[in-house]
Formats: sequence, structure tokens, C-alpha cells
Amino acid sequence: MKKTLTYLLITVVAMALIAGVYWSVSFLINQDSEVIQSSQPSASPEESVFSNEDNTVYQAPPKVIFSFSWDDAAFSLQSENWYQNLGSGGYHQVSGIESSQEADNTILTSDETISFSYDTEPDSIIYEVFDQNTDTLVLSEETTDSTIPVMSEQGDYLYVITFLWNDDHRLYTGEYRYTLPLFVDLPAYFEFSKLSVKQGDFIKITAYNVNDDQVPVVNQSVFNRFKLFKSGYTYEGFLPAGYYTGKGTYELEYGFLGEPLLKESLTVLPYDFKIQYLWINETLAAATKNDESSAEYNKYFSPTRWQSNEQAYYTESFVLPATGHLSTEFGENRYTNGLPTSYHHSGLDIGNEIDSPIYATNRGKVVLSMYLIMTGNTIVIDHGQGLFSVYFHMNSTIAKEGDMVERGEQIGYMGTTGFSTGSHLHFTMSFFDTNIDPGYLLVGEPITKENAEEYLN
Ligand SMILES: [Zn+2]
Repeated sequence: MKKTLTYLLITVVAMALIAGVYWSVSFLINQDSEVIQSSQPSASPEESVFSNEDNTVYQAPPKVIFSFSWDDAAFSLQSENWYQNLGSGGYHQVSGIESSQEADNTILTSDETISFSYDTEPDSIIYEVFDQNTDTLVLSEETTDSTIPVMSEQGDYLYVITFLWNDDHRLYTGEYRYTLPLFVDLPAYFEFSKLSVKQGDFIKITAYNVNDDQVPVVNQSVFNRFKLFKSGYTYEGFLPAGYYTGKGTYELEYGFLGEPLLKESLTVLPYDFKIQYLWINETLAAATKNDESSAEYNKYFSPTRWQSNEQAYYTESFVLPATGHLSTEFGENRYTNGLPTSYHHSGLDIGNEIDSPIYATNRGKVVLSMYLIMTGNTIVIDHGQGLFSVYFHMNSTIAKEGDMVERGEQIGYMGTTGFSTGSHLHFTMSFFDTNIDPGYLLVGEPITKENAEEYLN
């Protein structure tokens, strides 16, 4: 941002089309931080009532004065439209005036405001803020306040501010529309959703206000597939603690490449996973859990969760993929035919009648839809930014590999295909291939046998 050391007076003159009156927009900038722009008639106050050839008397439109507390701000009067209502049935229209002023509209704090004053209070002010990088409307407000806020997140914004004097009883009605390009350049910082996490939960790490020449860095040993995903000036990454993530304290370093890194300690707390005693039908086990089924699973299923779309496909909240009763919790530690194993159940088992509908928990791309010996009819959805959902044992599938599916869209029918002893959905959610308790995304806490009735019906 450049400091202006001398007074600068720029006058943009626009001509009122019918009345032939000159209007001026003046910018007065000084080094004491004030930038004042005024839009006012060039006529002196006693001349602010003017006439046209028919000797109809028009009152001058109101004037608006902008002020900012940062240097070098400039905006443009895009249009004005005035209708003079003098009771004679006639009106006077002025429109199409445009002026513009070049400036480096960069500000470095978000506690700034844009304020106005007027000689006649407008009936309303409508301001819309567009993100110029994504070309989307991010804020639209109507106000009668004489100040409007600066956006609190870094961005390249365009403010479109319309002042309306539109009450019917006025002698004139009309509007001014101004545009104000504004680059909000804020200090970058990191945020951790939590510093202590139970097995089955995850930590969200966000770096805000990251400029194009900055590279965010996170060094940690909790999760080897950790990755930060860029979205505008924000980076997001997820650090899941799985059932195999050891409890204890982990040192983490974070910051920006080429700068000194900061340190933080993360704690992984144990989760008291339930124990499941499973008595397996030997014939079924032999048919579905063998070298061939493992090789097939490793070949087709495993790689689908090694890479993910850079942008999030998912939005809003997540929906239940099926209703029913919870037969196995996330992480349950299995005793098979009386013997302990290191196996943990990778998701939720939701039991219901055969051919019950199964829905996509959120928007995403189907990256696998096929029959596998071990998991039966199987679907994997990539929700982007490392988040996946997995659906096993379906009687039949609807969604095909490559399909984009919407949140809540039916993707298949419940069944008992593969290594399964009754009609149910096995539902897994994961960041890449580290499985988490889906409850954290669906309802904000683990879904257990104690609360399943509340959540799964
Ligand atoms: Zn299961």
C-alpha cells in the first residue's frame, strides 16, 4: 500500500444529459489517513435548484460523501437514475453517468469500515459483495446504517453499493450505484479445531489468509497421508486418529516455508472400544475370507482411497445412509470363535430389511462400484479433500463408477452379499484410508448402542 504524500485532487466531470449541468466527483486524499470523496453538484448551494427549457424547476439530487480510514481507496459511480416528481405529471431523468478512479484498494485489517454521510438521508442502502476470484456473491444486505463492514476474510472483493431515495412522497426519487474494488490482505494464521482427540475422531487444521507466495507447512507423525487442500486463500487438512493410532502426545510443527515454524502438542486419547464375540460359520468364512478375496480387495478396493479430489464435493451436513438398528459399532475389537484378534470393525453395521434403500451420505464422486468376494456389492464415494464413504454388502447397486451423486441420493439396496450373516449395511467413513467413527460427521459424536435408537431411526 502506497502512502500519498501530497494532496491529490482529481475531478471527474460528468454531464447531466438533459439539463446540461456539470457534476463533479472529487477525491481528496491526504497523508493523515483520511480519504474523502464527495459527489456533489458543481453549482453553489443557492444554484442547486435548476431549470430546463420548459422552466420546470428541479431540485438537486442529494449528495453522498464517503470516508475510509485507509489510504488510496477509490470507487466508481457506475450509474445514477433520478426521477423528479413535481406533481405536474412530468419527470426529469438523469442516467448513465459513469466515472472511475484508479487506485490500489488494498487494506490490511478487517476492523475498518466504509462510512457515508449525506445531505439527505437515503431510504435504504443495499450493498452486495462479490468475490472477484470465484465471481460469486458472498454477501447481500439492506441497511439504513451509515457504515458497512469490510469482509473479515482475505479476498479480492467488489462492493456494489446502491443508495436509494425511493419513498413516494419525495419530491424526487432516485439512486446512485457505486462500485468499490477492495483487496483485503490479512495476516495468515493457523487454526486447530482441537488439540486433544479421541481415537475415531479427527482434527481439522486450517490456514487462513494465505497469499499466493506463501506455502503452508505442517510436520507431524499422527497421519502419514496428511495433506492441506487449497481453496482460495484458505488451506484445510484433516488429521484423523484411527483405532491403530497410538495414544499419547505428538509434537507438531506448523507455519510457512522459509519462515520459523511454530510448535504445538497434540494428544491422542484412547477410546474404550467394545469387544465383539463373533462365531463364524466356517463355510461362509472359507468362501469369503481367503487369499483370493484378500488379493481382490487389495487390488480393487484399497487404491480407491489413496487419492482424493483437491476440492470438496461435499456441502452442509451429512445424512444417514440407512435407518435400522446398530449391530456393530465403529472400532469394536473382535474375538473370532473365542480367540482375540487385532481386528477393529471399520465402520457402523446398520441392520434392516433386505432391499431397504441406501443413500449417499453426501455429495461426491463414485470411485468404485463393483462386486467383491469379501465385501459383496461395494461402493466407495470420494467426497473430496481426502474424505471418503464406503458401503458394503448391498443386495444391488444403483450408482456406477464415475457417477456424481448428490447428498441423500439413493445409491443401492441393502443386502447380505459377501462376508455377512444377515441383511445390513456396513458403512465406513475415512480420511484417505484411516477410518473414523462416522458419528463425528453425522451427529457430532460416536454412534453407539446406547444412542443408536435416537440417531438411526
Ligand atoms: Zn461391518
